[in-house]
Amino acid sequence: MDSKKWKMKDALMREFNQEKSDSGVSGKRLAERLDTLSMIGRTSDNGSKRPGFSLLEYEAKRTVIKWMKEADLSVRQDGAGNIIGRLEGEQSSLPAIMSGSHVDTVPNGGHFDGTLGVLSALEVAQAWKDTGYLPKKPYEVVIFTDEEGSRFNGGLTGSEALTGDSNIDDLLSKVDNEGRTFKEVIADVSLTVEGFTQAKRDLNEIETYIEVHIEQGKRLENEDLPCGIVNGIAGPYWMKVTFKGLAGHAGNTPMNDRRDALVAASAFIQRVSELPRTINTTSVATVGNIEVKPNGTNVIPGEVILYVDIRDIESESRQELISKIISCGENISQQSDVSFEYKCVHNSLPVPIPSALQEKLAEATKEEGIRPYFLPSGAGHDAMILGRYMPVALLFVRSRDGISHNPDEWSDLSDCVQTVQVLKRYIEKMQELQ
Ligand SMILES: [Zn+2]
Repeated sequence: MDSKKWKMKDALMREFNQEKSDSGVSGKRLAERLDTLSMIGRTSDNGSKRPGFSLLEYEAKRTVIKWMKEADLSVRQDGAGNIIGRLEGEQSSLPAIMSGSHVDTVPNGGHFDGTLGVLSALEVAQAWKDTGYLPKKPYEVVIFTDEEGSRFNGGLTGSEALTGDSNIDDLLSKVDNEGRTFKEVIADVSLTVEGFTQAKRDLNEIETYIEVHIEQGKRLENEDLPCGIVNGIAGPYWMKVTFKGLAGHAGNTPMNDRRDALVAASAFIQRVSELPRTINTTSVATVGNIEVKPNGTNVIPGEVILYVDIRDIESESRQELISKIISCGENISQQSDVSFEYKCVHNSLPVPIPSALQEKLAEATKEEGIRPYFLPSGAGHDAMILGRYMPVALLFVRSRDGISHNPDEWSDLSDCVQTVQVLKRYIEKMQELQ
């Protein structure tokens, strides 16, 4: 397919036949805006390439700023390049309701991840303008900088700056693939390190944050639902595990005289994949990285180093899983005369979604004639960072075949529009919450 000829808008509009809406939400406008952003950083196979801090991410932001102004939002950029479009509301002294996402992408990403969250939040403000509705509380549409982190192997850079969680020394030590430092790269888009520290916001100014994001999984597709309510954001816990046995000759060592570290590790990996199911339906554990030493065809493996990624939406059940994985490793070690050691190398705590917010989203979903369905989020998103400091909610849109971070990433326009309707109802309900 010729990437210049492919029109995202045509593909979106082909299956869409529900333009009439009293709410002011317009599928056609959403399709046009998704299409416009999809042209910025278009790759040869119709994907998107807009790395954080690139001129392309900047261009996408500038395009959205123009639309924010059309929706009567007053727009400012903070020191980290986050864009905030604000509608004062009837009582501008109240804390704001904030919604948004990001417009940067992975190297050959799709056209919905992040972008849809920003445009959904903006569509609510635009619909209010078109129908003459003024919210009581201030409303802020936000574009966070560099969520994906593809350039410096990090991510969530903008949201961390806003909450004051940036590790400036760590950022300054980063170098991209082209050998350019963080400081040099951010200067391309007129940002400074000092600006990053100044981006920290008084978080009392924000009551709550809600993010629309594509699911990037198949649960909603399996349930045949356009959108779903996230009931918790799983925090990853990474465990480095070392099994040590004894390397030896593959020909001369009898089978009952071996201390094979890889055989022990294999039994362990098998159990790691079974254990989450013994706890609940939301926890997951994965071994995706393994190193065998000395890794020779005719040598009994003497040492195996592997990493376990363990996630759940609640700290207690995640801890239960971690404990079970550790005792499983210890049991295997005793049975096989291979030593077992473990160490935590990363630990982000799960972020709960308050049940009051889940209920409000469920009400909004029902009013749209959609069955409320609750699902965990395995990925963090900017909501995970803000969720450390304020109540957050997350609304997932059905992803076709669960594909994401790929040019084939797709959500039907009717699903996107129904999700925006739910978002709008939810934010209007939140006006009444004290
Ligand atoms: Zn995203």
